[in-house]
Amino acid sequence: MVKESVAVIGSGNWGSVAARMAGQSCLEKPDLFERDVPMWVFEEQVDGRNLTDIINEKHENVKYLPGAKFPENVIANPDLIDTVEDATLLIIVIPHQFLPKTLNTLKGHINPKARAVSLIKGVEVVGDNINIFAKVIERELGIRCSALSGANIANEIALEKFSETSIGYADRKDGEIFQKLFDRPYFRVSIVEDVEGVSLCGAMKNIVAIACGFNDGMNWGDNTKAAIMRVGLLEMKRFCQDFFPSCKDATFVEESAGVADLITTCLGGRNRKVAAAHAETGKSFEQLEQEILGGQRLQGTGTAKEIHEFLSHKGKVDNYPLFKTVYEIAFENKPAKELTSRL
Ligand code: NAD
Ligand code: 13P
Repeated sequence: MVKESVAVIGSGNWGSVAARMAGQSCLEKPDLFERDVPMWVFEEQVDGRNLTDIINEKHENVKYLPGAKFPENVIANPDLIDTVEDATLLIIVIPHQFLPKTLNTLKGHINPKARAVSLIKGVEVVGDNINIFAKVIERELGIRCSALSGANIANEIALEKFSETSIGYADRKDGEIFQKLFDRPYFRVSIVEDVEGVSLCGAMKNIVAIACGFNDGMNWGDNTKAAIMRVGLLEMKRFCQDFFPSCKDATFVEESAGVADLITTCLGGRNRKVAAAHAETGKSFEQLEQEILGGQRLQGTGTAKEIHEFLSHKGKVDNYPLFKTVYEIAFENKPAKELTSRL
């Protein structure tokens, strides 16, 4: 049997955890996977040194995942093309705003037999056209792409606290091989034939998490937060019914990618945290992202804007009052206290 060669594109907070899990599996399953896992690092200086050099010396991403060690077979590489050259399985896990440029560099350099999995939460919107990132990756790289998403706060999984995730596949064999790659005793992977449902839940729950952050910043309490989550889940479902009717209802309730990810992100995610600080201080999201996240990137405000642009083109903004209000608070200076009157 031909072994799979794994490469990771990305090395942020979740990217580093994904590489750590893949590295562990490759060491434990030598019949299935080649040993070494190259990980592309967007090179930067940390304390006057290349981050890649620090990672390869300390086996730790001191900037984006301090305190968690990589297995020694995870090898940081600043050269994107060199990282993917031999890969038959690609894990793509970068903040969504950097995907277009990254795919442009990768074009023409991918093994045509490779398959990818996208761990990115967000959507591509161009006018009235919307795409999940698995489809964007397929379109740009000409390979099949699955989607992995779930209730997965990276820092908790780095500590090997138990969590679940969902892989949405179009070809079951892809789902099965990525399941074997990510499966850890502390990380339970289910597979489901619903790439769109898994991807869209992961993207849209970030808008709801921003609303929950406003809730926390305004000190409204848990009942209000539950109301926001309920309304948010309904808008997520409505969006899929309106624009992606092949999404499966079961993904919302039975998969970690659905309601479980909504809950964890609304309770403990970065989107929630930064939005709470926005409601408390009135500072801009850009400023708070820099002050609070230490180089990590917010996804929810970008997604709120992208979904708003798409719904505006479709003339359907008013059908999604929660999404609309999050956009207005984040981008049009509407006060956060307006939120409850729209629920
Ligand atoms: P992150 O938020 O830690 O972002 C930092 C990363 O962005 C670093 O690796 C940095 O080098 C990179 N970066 C900065 N500028 C860049 C550029 N110009 N080009 C390319 N890369 C650049 O990243 P993350 O947490 O790994 O998130 C990646 C994706 O995973 C996101 O879509 C996120 O929603 C999703 N996700 C994150 C978590 C989590 O808990 N962190 C959990 C599940 C899913
Ligand atoms: P945040 O980006 O809000 O931290 O969400 C992480 C996540 O997607 C958890 O599943």
